[in-house]
Amino acid sequence: MTELASPPKERGEEIARINHWIGGRAVAGESGRSGPVYNPATGEQSGAVDFASVEEVGRAVAAAKEAFPAWRATSLSRKSEILFRIRRLVDEHREDLARFLTLEHGKVLSDALGEVARGLEVVEFACGIPHLLKGGFSEQASTGIDVYSIRQPLGVVGGITPFNFPAMVPMWMWAPALACGNTFVLKPSEKDPSASIFTAELLKEAGVPDGVFNVVHGDKVAVDALLEHPDVVALSFVGSTPIARYIYETGTKHGKRVQALGGAKNHMIVLPDADIEMAADAAVSAAYGSAGERCMAISQVVAVGHAADPLVAAIKERLPKIKVGSGLDEGVEMGPLVTREHRDKVAGYIDGAREQGATVVADGRETAPEGDGFFLGVSLLDDVTPEMDAYRDEIFGPVLGVTRVATYDEAVKLINENPYGNGTAIFTRDGGVARQFQFEVEAGMVGINVPIPVPVAYYSFGGWKSSLFGDTHIYGPEGINFYTRGKVVTSRWPDPATSQVDLGFPQTR
Ligand code: NAD
Repeated sequence: MTELASPPKERGEEIARINHWIGGRAVAGESGRSGPVYNPATGEQSGAVDFASVEEVGRAVAAAKEAFPAWRATSLSRKSEILFRIRRLVDEHREDLARFLTLEHGKVLSDALGEVARGLEVVEFACGIPHLLKGGFSEQASTGIDVYSIRQPLGVVGGITPFNFPAMVPMWMWAPALACGNTFVLKPSEKDPSASIFTAELLKEAGVPDGVFNVVHGDKVAVDALLEHPDVVALSFVGSTPIARYIYETGTKHGKRVQALGGAKNHMIVLPDADIEMAADAAVSAAYGSAGERCMAISQVVAVGHAADPLVAAIKERLPKIKVGSGLDEGVEMGPLVTREHRDKVAGYIDGAREQGATVVADGRETAPEGDGFFLGVSLLDDVTPEMDAYRDEIFGPVLGVTRVATYDEAVKLINENPYGNGTAIFTRDGGVARQFQFEVEAGMVGINVPIPVPVAYYSFGGWKSSLFGDTHIYGPEGINFYTRGKVVTSRWPDPATSQVDLGFPQTR
């Protein structure tokens, strides 16, 4: 069994130093810069993460470049075998990985285990890489000529990931990228970096050759170094919209292939014919799970017609029962927010909404657990209108807004006019309306009586509009396309005796 090189710190223990991972081993940072990592449940600093310099990022890219030719030439069956071993090791270490998430991100352990499970499904998909890379073959495309297509890896690819899924989102990237034969440099969130180093240890134990998977920690300096490095040929990014746009524009300007997934404002329409109790359960689960720090969280309910009063009442009734506390404690359903600053920013939206005319049905500041942890209880805002900051901004916390509209058409218009287009959901018993919704709504992931429609690993994940910059969605078939490029071979084996000069354009018939 793998020993944790840098076990998660709990209350009272010394501060852990979190290093880079370059060329198959932990490497202490030399830049002299680092950032604090907190246990959000206690408010104490638990770690200090090294921030990479341009030169250190260069070393990671060089290690990945050196490892590429041999990894690319490794047979598909061997790569698949290694991926199956990664799958087994991550499965065996689910709890260890989940503890890193709870201790640095704050999400409750059951939720952290769910994150690992959904990430693991992407690894499982990648285990089928021999099948996924099968090309097409056309025998006798012309007389004596066969044509076939193959997909080949790109080279050194980079991944830049957000704080809210420190294990799963990197898996969305490295699992397909490595399976396709690329080598990888990950720049995880500096807020909860330990899961990435533990992942690197597991990958090494699974037989991933040194240099194939590297981790550099840091801030804008490290990100910009990846964006500008000539040997990085593609970048995947997941994070907020302003940074996603910056990554896309800067990366493509430097000639890289880029997919950059951004923020979200996910609306859930509840029609008058919906089962109100079921819709309330779904809204509460999807709004407050992981303290609302999910890009697929429902942050805005759109209540149509006479659904509104009973729905708001049913949601309100459920709120006092949500147990908020430390993610490691038994029975806790919602943990703290990731940092003190973020908690304070989220809390600021409650006063802002009240001042702008919303009705504060529940104020999470009144129900937050005591102590130094970055806690905020659950908040519910009614009568939210599109001009309010609480509607316009992605709050990314346990604050659910309700907007009341008269008709289904008004509800869809709200979604389609919103700059974001990540996920959306409709709750109804009317199959015809649900189908119309699926047809006309402008969002990349749609739930019908499903509040968080994260696609399974064999489809691809991605939003529309300001929720994604680039052409391909992430993981699934589009992930395989993103991390490979196509080649088409036209071949013939003629009798040399029939050879002759022909300056005409090649004909197929
Ligand atoms: P963020 O944009 O602040 O950070 C994401 C990454 O970018 C981090 O690794 C960070 O170090 C880096 N970064 C931050 N500022 C930078 C800068 N100025 N220049 C270069 N790099 C920079 O996002 P976050 O707060 O870590 O994560 C939350 C956001 O991510 C939310 O907006 C959420 O909706 C979004 N998100 C989207 C998806 C999706 O699939 N669309 C999934 C998860 C999270």
